[in-house]
Amino acid sequence: MRCLVAIAAFMLLSTVGVRAAVPADCWTLHKHGASAKAQYCFESLIRSTHAYDRSEGYWGLEQWEQANSQFRLATQPIDSPVLYKVRWGMLLHERFNDSDSADLFREALAKDPSNAEAYVGLAVISAEDFDGKAAAYAAKAITLDPKLVEAHEVLADLALTNDDHEAAAAEADKAIALADDALDAMATHAAIELLADHSPDLWLAKIRAVNPHYGEAYARIAHQLELHYRYEDAVAWYGKAIEVDPQDWSAHSALGIDLMRLGKENEPYQELQLAYSNGYRDAATVNSLRLLDSYKNFDTIRDSSTILKLNKSESALLLPYIQPELQTILATYKKKYRMTLPGPVQVEVYPNHEDFAVRTTGMPGLGALGVTFGEVVAMDSPSARKPGDFNWGSTLWHEMSHVFILTATNHRVPRWFTEGLAVHEEGMHSPEWRNRVTPDVLVAIRDKKLLPIDKLDRGFVFPDYPAQLVVSYFQAGTICDFIGEKWGEAKLLDMVHSFAIMQTTTQAIQQNLALVPDQFDKQYLAWIDHKYGSQAAHFDEWREKLKSVVTAAEQKQYDMVRQQGPAVLALYPEYVDDANVYELMADAYKAAGTKSEAAILTAYEYAGGESPTTLKRLAILEESLGHPADAIATLQRLNYIYPVKDEELHRHLGDLLYTQKQFAGAIREYNAVVACNPVDRAGAEFNLAQAYFAAGQNVKAQDSVLAALEAAPGYRPAQKLLLQLQQTPSKSN
Ligand SMILES: [Zn+2]
Repeated sequence: MRCLVAIAAFMLLSTVGVRAAVPADCWTLHKHGASAKAQYCFESLIRSTHAYDRSEGYWGLEQWEQANSQFRLATQPIDSPVLYKVRWGMLLHERFNDSDSADLFREALAKDPSNAEAYVGLAVISAEDFDGKAAAYAAKAITLDPKLVEAHEVLADLALTNDDHEAAAAEADKAIALADDALDAMATHAAIELLADHSPDLWLAKIRAVNPHYGEAYARIAHQLELHYRYEDAVAWYGKAIEVDPQDWSAHSALGIDLMRLGKENEPYQELQLAYSNGYRDAATVNSLRLLDSYKNFDTIRDSSTILKLNKSESALLLPYIQPELQTILATYKKKYRMTLPGPVQVEVYPNHEDFAVRTTGMPGLGALGVTFGEVVAMDSPSARKPGDFNWGSTLWHEMSHVFILTATNHRVPRWFTEGLAVHEEGMHSPEWRNRVTPDVLVAIRDKKLLPIDKLDRGFVFPDYPAQLVVSYFQAGTICDFIGEKWGEAKLLDMVHSFAIMQTTTQAIQQNLALVPDQFDKQYLAWIDHKYGSQAAHFDEWREKLKSVVTAAEQKQYDMVRQQGPAVLALYPEYVDDANVYELMADAYKAAGTKSEAAILTAYEYAGGESPTTLKRLAILEESLGHPADAIATLQRLNYIYPVKDEELHRHLGDLLYTQKQFAGAIREYNAVVACNPVDRAGAEFNLAQAYFAAGQNVKAQDSVLAALEAAPGYRPAQKLLLQLQQTPSKSN
């Protein structure tokens, strides 16, 4: 059982009347593993005449509903002690109701702004949300009550999550100095040792000396390992938690979730179901069970090096795109990183974003588009997103870089580096997928908010301001771009090897680039300034001028758009999102009937613009200008952006490829049309049959032509093709 134990000493004196026992004493017995005595103690509490005592008693006996109603009763009197609300909040947090829990902490603080425990409660909730406020709450609690053990424990845990091992150890030491049974602080120490690949035995012995059945310590260690991508180790430590406390349902649930992350199928269900049937029904448990149940809707497609899990509703459509891309990625990275993965990589593609989100539960900042757990990648399907919002190709290249780097470093790599390298790899594969500077990033550059390299991890875990996560991805990516550009791509691989032997960022920079972090920061910032300084400095000017171009476009003052557009574009050419100048100028050129429309849209495409409507418009222009190869290339980009629910795209691309005698591509596209369940099934099958026939694949051509005739028996062109096929000697399949 997870429990936020110790209660402040003053509560022992809080009320008068009949008291069979004192809650704090019962919790101390519980914390020290004296289960029978604790049980007896809690039972006597529920016989108390005080509602508050009864609430603690029921809580200790895990009779949650009764505990909840007794807290309600206890807090009714206007002058009830603030502590009751804080404790009630802690109970609700333990029972998965963080929103009411946070409200209670706030109500407590409204009554008593100096209540340190309430700040600890808020810190615990914020820490689990990774909302960036947890450390401030914990620090506030310590200011109000420097002797509050839990506050130091929470701060220690937060510091370790942030990879600040020194601060973590220092806070844990403070907690232990205040209380020799500060078990969670000891667990933080054990986790620090494990993360550095040292033995945690000393600390484990101390924990066992206080309470041999304190499974929570092992679960806390497991959680830290999980946060540092060490899922297999986390599984082992959750196992230990369960070994010493088989009824630690929260550990069962967390174990189930980590087993899912490792791509296991049956064990996760057993663990999660066990937790659920014993009343542990937090959102993660419930959602994970639901997700496991939905796996029946997925096809599993294996080859020698990949396992693809695609939803049945779209697997026929997506497989011909995703599987070859994955093979290309594997071959590219194998060569670049000079390694082979130990087993097949599993890629799960979720058409329902919520299902994918379940896979990232409890992880900081990873949830955007894809997430990698060792050799398992989970990602959104293009159908989970708005067309143009998401590029599954760049996401797959990104996540697969994580797979290689996590494997190469045995999961011992700083967050900033694995993220930076993954972002860098997207741009290495296609300049259109490179790390584009967004408005948030320009503002951060202008306001000098980029972090020193040895502190960059913090931007990923507990961001200080809302855009910091995005800014940190950009910074990490451009750091890798800079290293690749100045010292060569091979240096990035050397750094991977440094991290594999547990070097810190400082050591890896010194060893491979012969610089101390400060010097590196200076050089990098100069490089950034050269690249983006002017754009950042003129950001406000750009925004104002863009507004006036947008207004002109809305009023159809196309002359003005054509006059002002180029200067606005020059101020910030990487901007391709909503209301970008490229598209506004294209409309203005179109109104004037000039050929510049195609040119500006081509510039948009090369800048990485991904609006499907706009790219299709460009393809039509390219075709009409007599450049079918360009039209093909443009439409092929769309296959990475939104290949779903768009039979027109595949038919058009198929036709272009067929006309260009690129029959393999035409077959792929016409197959995609068939997989879209078109209304004109006969026509789709006939087109496919023709492409097979042209490619000399007569058996497949015959299958398709028969399918066309099955859909429309009187379909003359299909009848003719069938006759032709029957008269042609079969070449191959
Ligand atoms: Zn990533």
